[in-house]
Amino acid sequence: MLKELLDQFYLDRERDREQHHFYITDAGKCSRAVFFKFKNVPREKMEPRVLRMFDHGDYIQMQILNNLFSLGIVRASEVKIPPQELISGRADAIITLNNDLYVVDFKSMNSMIFKNLTEPKEDNVNQIQLYLHFFKIPKGILLYVNKDTLELKEFLVNYDSNLAQSLLRDLTDLKTKIDSNIVPQRIPAWPEEWQCQYCQFREICSMAGEGNVKWEDFKKKIEAQGNNLSD
Ligand code: SF4
Repeated sequence: MLKELLDQFYLDRERDREQHHFYITDAGKCSRAVFFKFKNVPREKMEPRVLRMFDHGDYIQMQILNNLFSLGIVRASEVKIPPQELISGRADAIITLNNDLYVVDFKSMNSMIFKNLTEPKEDNVNQIQLYLHFFKIPKGILLYVNKDTLELKEFLVNYDSNLAQSLLRDLTDLKTKIDSNIVPQRIPAWPEEWQCQYCQFREICSMAGEGNVKWEDFKKKIEAQGNNLSD
């Protein structure tokens, strides 16, 4: 009854969406997985329970943002990076502390991951580096919240121009592969790498093998398995 309705609500909202430009969250991620997203390759569905947990995380983050507003230190929230062709993204907040500007990004996680967190996660650092780059703000804060206990941990991130430039170069290279229909090679630590463990394209990826593959050939292989690809 209600459970089925709610589960379906999340599943409908999560239908595969075509992607036409990069999001900041794609920076530093497996190129092959991002390629598959652009080509709308069928992916393993997430459970409604997991999707509800994401929503719950967003809700907690909104609460924290409200607290920062109450402290009077928020200069802007949900701030989009300046429009340009390659990438789009929206930082959670820009705040002022002791007359310095900071980009703030919130991340929520379960107790197990939170407990073992002694440094910021690499993909979160990549993301905030690009915010710092596009906003031309030298300092950022990654604020992690434990969804189960609401404890907080924070990490200061200083702008690293080399890292930001290298992330943007990688995305530009990936864009060339997407436009010229070359499926990128899989990541070297496949399949143990954490990205592979959580990847929704695991099955399709193992069909493609290790190296670069021509998309047109591989697409026929996927379609031969009964999948319809719109691209
Ligand atoms: S399984 Fe690993 S290598 Fe393959 S697409 Fe996913 S993250 Fe990339």
